[in-house]
Amino acid sequence: MSKKKLICIVCPNGCEIEIDGDKISGYTCKRGLDYAKSEFLNPVRSLSSTVKIADSDLVCPVKTSKPIPKGKMFEVIKEINKVSIKKPIKYHQIIIKNVLNLGVDIIATKEF
Ligand code: SF4
Repeated sequence: MSKKKLICIVCPNGCEIEIDGDKISGYTCKRGLDYAKSEFLNPVRSLSSTVKIADSDLVCPVKTSKPIPKGKMFEVIKEINKVSIKKPIKYHQIIIKNVLNLGVDIIATKEF
C-alpha cells in the first residue's frame, strides 16, 4: 500500500490525515478515523446532474438518493444521460430506481 494524504471533511477543523500502509495518523477523533478508513477502502460521493425533459429545451436537476462508490460515477452519469422524463415532475420523484443495482435512486430536485 502506498502513502496517501487526505483532508478530513467531517468537521470544519480539516485535519490532515495520512495513511501509510495500515497506519493511519493525523486524525484527532474517532469520526476522522472512520472517515479515513471509509475514504481509503470504499470512497463514496453524492452525484448531481440533469435529465432532459421531453418535448422541451429544459432539463431537470437530479441527484443520487445516497452517496455512491466513487468508481461508479461515470457509469451512473451514462445511465442518467439515457433518460428523458415528462412533466409533471415532483420534487424527490424517483427518476431511475436502483440505478445499476447500487441500491440508490436518482431523484428529481426540482418541480416542473
Ligand atoms: S479528525 Fe475529527 S476533528 Fe479532525 S476534521 Fe475530522 S472530524 Fe474534525
